[in-house]
Amino acid sequence: MRKAVFLFPKHSNYDWQELVDSGINEVMIGLHPPAEKLANQARNLNFKIGVSITSFEDMCPLDPKSFHRLENLLHQALKLNPQTIWLDHFRFGGHWEDLKRNLPDDRHLPCQWCRDTDRVEELCKLASWVRSSIHREIELGYFAMPLYGHKTPELISEMGQDHQRLCKNFEEL
Ligand SMILES: [Zn+2]
Repeated sequence: MRKAVFLFPKHSNYDWQELVDSGINEVMIGLHPPAEKLANQARNLNFKIGVSITSFEDMCPLDPKSFHRLENLLHQALKLNPQTIWLDHFRFGGHWEDLKRNLPDDRHLPCQWCRDTDRVEELCKLASWVRSSIHREIELGYFAMPLYGHKTPELISEMGQDHQRLCKNFEEL
């Protein structure tokens, strides 16, 4: 069974013996210094290593600057030799933790890059590009918002996360 913990590099003083004793066999490491040190420590303990990158931060996923940023982050993540790469915030803004019934206040509003585009389609294209740009043996995952198509169709089109369509490019959710 997989038992994973998320490691925040800014809290890097982990008690590794405690992690071993907890029975975990996998870590997800946020890509911030000293992620490399954490990856090496985890590798020495034979933990499976995943690296998590913040896909777009507050930028539009279709802004060309976002694409270059994502490309650069993937490059940095690959240097840590992970078995899995996790795309965090792989959506058009918004925090699902703030969701009640309506659209989140911090969702991404249409801009020059994404106006009149199909956000689901565009995220699928980006996911396909990521999948094709990393080695097939590396698993790709994303953090999925808990959205249900029949209950919240407007959320899916606004945030762009249609899991049924998106998951074709991923091994992990
Ligand atoms: Zn936009």
